[in-house]
Amino acid sequence: MTAICLVGIGKIAVDQHVPAINGSDAWELAATVSRAGTVDGVPAYTDFEQMLAERPDVNVISLCLPPVPRYGYAAKAIAAGRHVMLEKPPGATLAEVHALADMAKAAGVTLYTTWHSRMAEGVAPAKAWLADKEITAAHISWKEDVRRWHPGQNWVFEPGGMGVFDPGSNALSIITEILPMPIHLRSAELFYPSNCDTPIAAQMQWTQNVTGDFDWRQEGPQSWDITVETTQATLNLHDGGARLVIDGVEAVVGPRAEYPALYARMAELVEQGQSEVDLSPMLHVADALTLGKRVMLEPFVL
Ligand code: NAP
Repeated sequence: MTAICLVGIGKIAVDQHVPAINGSDAWELAATVSRAGTVDGVPAYTDFEQMLAERPDVNVISLCLPPVPRYGYAAKAIAAGRHVMLEKPPGATLAEVHALADMAKAAGVTLYTTWHSRMAEGVAPAKAWLADKEITAAHISWKEDVRRWHPGQNWVFEPGGMGVFDPGSNALSIITEILPMPIHLRSAELFYPSNCDTPIAAQMQWTQNVTGDFDWRQEGPQSWDITVETTQATLNLHDGGARLVIDGVEAVVGPRAEYPALYARMAELVEQGQSEVDLSPMLHVADALTLGKRVMLEPFVL
């Protein structure tokens, strides 16, 4: 078993990382670092450098912090010769993740930019089915209630929090995985509450007739859907990629096992001495923030 340390014991660490690690024979949760959060029975540190100094047995660090503080922790972990797994989105900027990739390469350690939605059950078969199809259009509809999923997480509306692109990057991680051709952004409208530094909604138009509607104000039914039209049939991914429907026929309904799959992939990368750094979902976020027209809204209270 490989000893791993989880950093940032908050919502996603508790909901997904701890169960995925505990459910695997490959990993032992050997330490946590968090200012307030702990995991029962696991040695808890509040100081990352102290953990690195006192626990040479821990050779993999999984960073579950929000994107802005993540770079500093990742750089220290790599400098201390540890392998690093990054929650999505992998950083606050593209350049800082490129810098981490260079550092990891120089240090001979693994860096893994995880995109959990790519591990949803319908994604790999969708990619395989689309590989030889002629795509005529695609649409992302990613609409959820930020108050329901991110209560009290004010960082999502602060610089680097990415606003609606925090969940939206999940959709972008799927579309960049399944489409057999590259796309690039042509225009976008970004909707900013006047008291927020990040958008609460976005409408995006890419090349190849690909569009996206992202909204964090959705009450009632939530939608995490992608539709791809081809000259042969229409492919639909629902529930964030867990359900795949082709030509109206349900093809895959997967168990929710995205995080166990991420940890299995990390074990493989460490074993093979490789890194996996894919910034393509984040590139589209950066392009939207570069090219998007800003529309101002009333203040929004989380
Ligand atoms: P969160 O609960 O707000 O934050 C995780 C933990 O990080 C906090 O409990 C906090 O622990 C620590 N932290 C927060 N700000 C920090 C700072 N400035 N410096 C150092 N530590 C800080 O966030 P989350 O929902 O778990 O999300 C974390 C990451 O996971 C995000 O990138 C998000 O996109 C991704 N993610 C979230 C979800 C979800 O459903 N929430 C799903 C998939 C992926 P301490 O105060 O104890 O230090």
